[in-house]
Amino acid sequence: MIVRAGWVKVAAQRGGKVMGEPTRWGMIGASTIAREWMIDAIRAQPDGAIVAVMSSSAERAAAYAAATGIPKHYDRLDALLADAAVDAVYISTTNELHHGQTLAAAAAGKHVLCEKPLALTLEDAREMVQACADAGVVMGTNHHLRNAAAHRAMREAIAAGRIGHPIAARVFHAVYLPEHLQGWRLQRPDAGGGVILDITVHDADTLRFVLDDEPVDVVAQSQTAGMAEGGLEDGAMSVVRFRSGAIAQLHEAFTVRYAATGFEVHGTEGSLIASDVMTQRPIGEVRLRSAAGEELLPLVQENLYARAVRRFHGAIRGDDTPAATGEDGVRAMALALAVAEAARTGRRVEIDPGSTG
Ligand code: NDP
Repeated sequence: MIVRAGWVKVAAQRGGKVMGEPTRWGMIGASTIAREWMIDAIRAQPDGAIVAVMSSSAERAAAYAAATGIPKHYDRLDALLADAAVDAVYISTTNELHHGQTLAAAAAGKHVLCEKPLALTLEDAREMVQACADAGVVMGTNHHLRNAAAHRAMREAIAAGRIGHPIAARVFHAVYLPEHLQGWRLQRPDAGGGVILDITVHDADTLRFVLDDEPVDVVAQSQTAGMAEGGLEDGAMSVVRFRSGAIAQLHEAFTVRYAATGFEVHGTEGSLIASDVMTQRPIGEVRLRSAAGEELLPLVQENLYARAVRRFHGAIRGDDTPAATGEDGVRAMALALAVAEAARTGRRVEIDPGSTG
């Protein structure tokens, strides 16, 4: 495995942990994603422990801690960050809070795994990455899909030349937002609601990862088809051009009850057709079709979030990188924000070149 020197330095600066020494987490946000996935993902690690949770409400913090078996709870960020038992924080509050909470965590010397979108503006997202770098703490973005066996197998097949040169990709990520999540995503522009910051940002990261390519520009349309309010969109379609010349078509929605999800890459010598892979669960399959016929790629399924935490722990030790870095989070946001602008203006929008290195 290739390890960037920077991460070794980060680990050394922070007295990076050695194998077996636990990483002790503070959970910022009494959220659904933590309750449904991330608490288990951390506890699944032989070297992972959760020591505290923070909510803006003392009552919610106490109830959440009791329900999830987290020993300590706080209702103030500074109190959680002052807890010397906390090595790393997982930030899963609503999107407008990620920026300030990451800056504070970095200043307190805590490693940061932040939910997507990192922030509401690119400027804020870049500041978060810089703050973590300056503080010498590891920063990761919780883009789970690049941890899926299917997406990793597609990336490897493309890198191995199995479909020749990628010409086009299609991403099918139109789903129905579950009732228990039908809150701020549909109602609060100030919290970074809307399907583009919620799902397009994941598709942006997955495309960059699978194609190993960077987006150049985009055209897009969005809609409000009965669920979102306050000027927010609940559906979006876009077409992105990549540096290699490949084009990708994306569809995200909160409103589509019965569609299947999928991810396809079509190349000069073959096609990769993945089904049921734009999901939180470790499921789905990938078919490779070429002149040789059709085969299913072998997949070793693993919980996506557990893999993300395992790699984050490795980054803290200095022998791995986060599955998706802070920089990856910035780049995914750059594409998602370009989709939003293209849909709003009806124009082709170039991806902010400061975000594509
Ligand atoms: P939730 O709505 O469950 O939680 C977000 C915040 O809402 C919490 O931090 C909490 O504030 C507040 N909240 C929760 N329940 C209540 C309540 N009953 N009354 C009042 N406030 C409440 O959001 P999600 O878990 O769906 O999303 C959180 C973040 O995670 C977002 O950034 C989202 O984009 C991201 N996410 C990422 C996923 C991934 O796969 N990477 C999947 C799903 C979400 P407080 O902490 O102050 O109590």
